Amino acid sequence: MTTLHSFSLSALQAGRPVLWAASRTTDGGAGPAFNGISSADVSATADRLTRFAPLLALLFPELEASAGRIESQLVVVPQLQQALGLTADNGLLMVKGDHALPVAGSIKARGGIHEVLEHAEALARRHGLLDAADYRTLASPEARALFAAHRVAVGSTGNLGLAIGVMASALGFQAVVHMSADAKQWKKDRLRKRGVEVVEHAGDYEEAVAAGRAVAEADPACHFVDDEQSLSLLLGYAAGTPHLARQLADAGRAVDAEHPLFVYLPCGVGGAPGGIAFGLAQIYGPHVHCFFAEPTRSPCFLVQMLAGTPAFSHLGTHPSVYDVGLDNRTEADGLAVPRASDLAARMMRPLLAGVYTVEDETLFAHLHLAAQTADIRIEPSAAAGFSGPGMLTGTDAGRAYLAAHGLAAHMYNATHIAWTTGGLFVPDEEYARFLARGALASAAASASASEFINLPSPS
Ligand SMILES: *Cc1c(COP(=O)(O)O)cnc(C)c1O
Repeated sequence: MTTLHSFSLSALQAGRPVLWAASRTTDGGAGPAFNGISSADVSATADRLTRFAPLLALLFPELEASAGRIESQLVVVPQLQQALGLTADNGLLMVKGDHALPVAGSIKARGGIHEVLEHAEALARRHGLLDAADYRTLASPEARALFAAHRVAVGSTGNLGLAIGVMASALGFQAVVHMSADAKQWKKDRLRKRGVEVVEHAGDYEEAVAAGRAVAEADPACHFVDDEQSLSLLLGYAAGTPHLARQLADAGRAVDAEHPLFVYLPCGVGGAPGGIAFGLAQIYGPHVHCFFAEPTRSPCFLVQMLAGTPAFSHLGTHPSVYDVGLDNRTEADGLAVPRASDLAARMMRPLLAGVYTVEDETLFAHLHLAAQTADIRIEPSAAAGFSGPGMLTGTDAGRAYLAAHGLAAHMYNATHIAWTTGGLFVPDEEYARFLARGALASAAASASASEFINLPSPS
């Protein structure tokens, strides 16, 4: 994959916002299969979630109303769109509200919960405890005794641990979550209250994962959810895309050559946005354009996309943000990842439209704006998508992407989806601090009369 428009490498390394747009190779037909997974696997994953729904409704009272479905809304946000400076001639902004996903309170409810369920299903089948007609039998004393003799472990910056820990302990597994130093205290507290063992690590996400993996490998009764390598996680994320397609159709939004769909996905290790982009590519082929959003100081996916290009060839095939002189420090704890998932990166190479980066103060300003204009309560990581439309329509790199793909004339019909990825369980006091900081960030931006909210030009 080549870079369509040369962006400023020095800006990336200085921690300033940049947009890197790819020149995509898949310009016909449906999205390609990858590593042996295809749209059939996405359907099979959605079917598994359907089989488990009655059990989930039994285990989690908050899922009674949806009969065990864990899904989020797709909404229009006219005031927020206006505040972000996206004019109607550039299309319609919608929000996919995974910040309010029940049970886990973040996008991890898709991938994380799926992997635990797939593991539980396989285990129960092996022990002759699976009643295909009614998965509620997995809440029986026999099934719980089986699960109690097994462990599920994971390394996390917080949200994946929450999803895995809550789901695994609800089924009766012993759950162990290895948390990186970025993890917020309230996320650890919430897990411990559910009987989950939380192991705190002084290092970053990568170290927490490595430590968890090592402990799990020594224990044959332990299943390690490997965020850097798991297809089950990826498929869990992808399985939400058929539902999104129905939501778009219900909202009267067409997606085709003359009605492009732009999706802005906050990216940590790349699994969640990668799975979603993969699922959307199966449905919409070249007509969906997925951009990943990362903090300016943790742009691991962008660094991975640049690996092997002349400027970065000395960094090898799998570089980290430290290798390019960045420090991986961000308030967006869900995105504080130094090195991308190699699996997600390989999957995304032919599919990705681009990656842009966002400063922490912009995340807070947008968090505040989302609350004020759309009554949307999110954590900082989940605000990264809101910079997307401005980056795409307001920068040279973005406009070059639109021109190269023949999209400029169709922007009036475009749909932009900002994917809000977490926030439901943020404690009130913590959220009040986020809001206050966001109000300050907004005020500072307008005082300096910069194009802060509508996004700076990267150079
Ligand atoms: C985990 C997470 C993401 C990104 O998911 P990855 O699979 O790590 O790329 C985005 N937003 C929030 C709030 C998250 O918790």
